[in-house]
Amino acid sequence: MDCIFCKIISGEIPADRVLETDEILAFHDIHPAAPVHVLIVPKKHVDSIQALSAETLPLVMPLHAAIREVAERTGIAGKGYRVISNIGEGAGQTVMHLHYHVLGGRKLGPKLL
Ligand code: 5GP
Ligand code: ZN
Repeated sequence: MDCIFCKIISGEIPADRVLETDEILAFHDIHPAAPVHVLIVPKKHVDSIQALSAETLPLVMPLHAAIREVAERTGIAGKGYRVISNIGEGAGQTVMHLHYHVLGGRKLGPKLL
């Protein structure tokens, strides 16, 4: 499959890795929008949250566990940080492999909600 994040997971494309388990990989975004900007992806390809099925829904738990661990490792857990997942073209999703952006290290704004 021609998916850039699958290629990062396989090692075909290099990335600055923060955390890896059997289920997930976390790596620094190539175009950081904040001093800390890490992407967390399931190793199994799923297009987006909208595409989760009964079979792939359990992937959410290790993804959320990784959010906490990444925040600790990058030193943003104490001050606060933001987690974003763009779903589909209307939300600006450009890589169709489910991912969470973890952003922190500066005052974040504006808030949408
Ligand atoms: P989206 O726009 O789909 O929510 O987020 C995709 C993110 O992937 C963007 O923030 C973009 O900078 C990042 N990205 C795209 N290609 C690469 C890459 O080859 N390596 C890394 N580390 N990040 C990438
Ligand atoms: Zn993929």
